[in-house]
Amino acid sequence: MTFDVELRKLAPSALIPLLDLLDRHKIKCTFFILGRLADRSPEVPAEIISHDHEIACHGYAHDPYDKKPFNYVKTDIEKGTAAVSKICDVVGFRAPYFRPHKKLARILENLGYHYDSSVPSKRFDLFIGRTNNPYNLLAPATPYSPSRENIFQRGSSRILEIPLASFGLPLLGVVMRNMGLKLFITLKNFISTFSDLIMFDIHIWEFLEASDDPVKRQTIFFHRRRKGKETLQMFEAFLNYLEQKGKFVMLSTLAEDIRSTRRTL
Ligand SMILES: [Zn+2]
Repeated sequence: MTFDVELRKLAPSALIPLLDLLDRHKIKCTFFILGRLADRSPEVPAEIISHDHEIACHGYAHDPYDKKPFNYVKTDIEKGTAAVSKICDVVGFRAPYFRPHKKLARILENLGYHYDSSVPSKRFDLFIGRTNNPYNLLAPATPYSPSRENIFQRGSSRILEIPLASFGLPLLGVVMRNMGLKLFITLKNFISTFSDLIMFDIHIWEFLEASDDPVKRQTIFFHRRRKGKETLQMFEAFLNYLEQKGKFVMLSTLAEDIRSTRRTL
């Protein structure tokens, strides 16, 4: 279970009910924090840490990396890492919009990261969304060591890639809100036929009421649909379902488990 935290304004009004809900369910999660937010509002990640969740890094400025030059991406990650590391040690990374640079593993390995979670394996938005990278279709669906030259392929990098669960559509909050829970669970169950690990991701801004969201996505129908309280209720119903099916794990714990198993093999 993962969350992306980008929005500074109004973040607490979306964050506090969510943290309370996770406490009630005794679930520990991974929150990917934007470096810019960590710089400007360190109280947001501090609040998350006080509930014993994991903090990981989401870059600095939130530009997609796939079309940017290598040096731009490297600088943005270094800046983001420096900002988030002021708050706590981080071992995990996620590229903005799940759009990594091909050589992302090379940068993360040099910065001492243990894992990355930027590849939406088997995702293809059919031009509805913004992620139509054919490399996603070829990427492994379960955790793997990526290549330093191409994050979408297996290789010998020391970092671990933990992909987002997808089949065509990804298990993201925006998909859940627009599909409705019943269909979304059908999608999740289909993905479970080829992956034991189900990684779901939702943004903190999705828990804001549409009228409170200061960003222009209010005008986009599928971003505006079922937000705020309705999202929180649907999210809790999804948690209730998942609790009967398996256990929750923070990505740092999962990465350490996989690394230690490999060492003993
Ligand atoms: Zn993001």
